[in-house]
Amino acid sequence: MKCLLCEKESKGMPHARVTPDARKWHDQHFPGMNLDEVLAKTGICEDCIALPPAERKKLAKKAIDHEKNEYRRELMEDAVKKRRN
Ligand SMILES: [Zn+2]
Repeated sequence: MKCLLCEKESKGMPHARVTPDARKWHDQHFPGMNLDEVLAKTGICEDCIALPPAERKKLAKKAIDHEKNEYRRELMEDAVKKRRN
């Protein structure tokens, strides 16, 4: 997986973290899209999770601003939101 924020390759961030609700949401909004495939490319590494929220937000904003693909942008925003708690 490539981290959304620092773009480092990292291992882990398994698909198993997806809740059944999240999967259902995905299937409803993006029918035909392979969630596992998307997740394999969309995540935030442990280093970035450990950053102070303000720093993480800065990185996230930069990454999202640079993303041209709307679908991926949504996923990124979603991923960042989930980590904020
Ligand atoms: Zn990272």
